[in-house]
Amino acid sequence: MVHCKDSDSDPDCELSPIIKRTYETLTANHLVHRGLDFIKADDERTLQDQIEICEIPAPTFKEEARARYYTDQLIAAGLNHVEMDSVGNVFGILRGTGEGPKLLVAAHLDTVFPEGCDVTARHINGKCYAPGIGDNSKGLAALLSVIRAFRNTNIRPVGDVIFCGNIGEEGLGDLAGIKAFFRDNRDIDGFIAVDGPGFKDIIYLATGSRRYEVTYRGPGGHSFGAFGVPSAIHAIGRAIAKIADLETPRDPKATFTVGMVSGGTSVNSIAAEATMLIDMRSNAKGELLKLEAEVLEAVRLAKDEENARWQSNSIIVDTKLIGDRPAGSQAPDSVIVQAAYASIQALGNTPSLEGPLSTDANIPIALGIPAVCLGGGGRGGNAHSPDEWYENVDAYLGPQSIFLTILGLAGACGICEPLLPQRGRAS
Ligand SMILES: [Zn+2]
Repeated sequence: MVHCKDSDSDPDCELSPIIKRTYETLTANHLVHRGLDFIKADDERTLQDQIEICEIPAPTFKEEARARYYTDQLIAAGLNHVEMDSVGNVFGILRGTGEGPKLLVAAHLDTVFPEGCDVTARHINGKCYAPGIGDNSKGLAALLSVIRAFRNTNIRPVGDVIFCGNIGEEGLGDLAGIKAFFRDNRDIDGFIAVDGPGFKDIIYLATGSRRYEVTYRGPGGHSFGAFGVPSAIHAIGRAIAKIADLETPRDPKATFTVGMVSGGTSVNSIAAEATMLIDMRSNAKGELLKLEAEVLEAVRLAKDEENARWQSNSIIVDTKLIGDRPAGSQAPDSVIVQAAYASIQALGNTPSLEGPLSTDANIPIALGIPAVCLGGGGRGGNAHSPDEWYENVDAYLGPQSIFLTILGLAGACGICEPLLPQRGRAS
């Protein structure tokens, strides 16, 4: 998750009577109190977990060592059957009565840092510095503390709660882990992603993105001797000029950039090949599709114009989709947003409904399945940079609010009914 707050996107959240009632019941219950006290007392251990997780490198596509470690941790925390699925996600189920909704709670295993990056934690002036310490060692550690709280209190959820460490959230991972999970498990009714530090922010809107690698190829040749044949670089220049002139709406926001360009052989060669990487984003599916169509049209026109300029047809273009994160939105007063809101409020804090971001929650949100992304607690900064830091201040508030959100959504046997509705089951 990368953070970029929209200042004007903090709608008020008026809690519905049933949400209020559920959270009054939960916060008055002695077992729930015991769970919250347990998480607070578990704070130091959770920090140790976070550091241990961080020091196992897990670049996107190479999460296996961390996934194996996390499998053992999920079992040690109190889950019975923990397994790895076909893409490398690890998960275990806290069983409910079989009568309730199915809630997936996941933290991504991968980091943006490449193999060989030093991930040793360094402690300086009360802060812990290490690449990936917050994003997402924090989320992974917070989940373990929540599972221990369930075991410690023996609270049984009404609905099944699936805890998962998933692969492929960052960059070219393209949300592969959560995509696969929702492809293979059609009966999930709700989703909580736990990503990075913090405990007040609720992300419930999804910025979509489409990314392309576009390559122009032609005959190439000597700049003087072969003059008169079309150039792959001249073609890509035409394409970039057209893309640069595209106009997109501010609301719903839609953006584009040609982020990288490469190609050519030497200064005195007509380029035989040129490649660019294009990133397009929007919070609205329709705008993203429209923008994509315009960009692809520009790519095609540039090829035709470069060929026409030299009465040739030797320039060809190859477009490859390298990133696809769906856009989507939910009402700020939907049950899952309200449950998260009420949980944060119940701990004496002021929740903040955040603007759209790109997180694992994009996948369920685009499928129409209720989903939020929450913080794992504590403070942090410089995510995705080697200077990433984390400070263990009031960190227990993260797992505490996740614990309460799960209890409200999945329900708790003998305490309260689940708030999360069961979606129609596919037969
Ligand atoms: Zn993240």
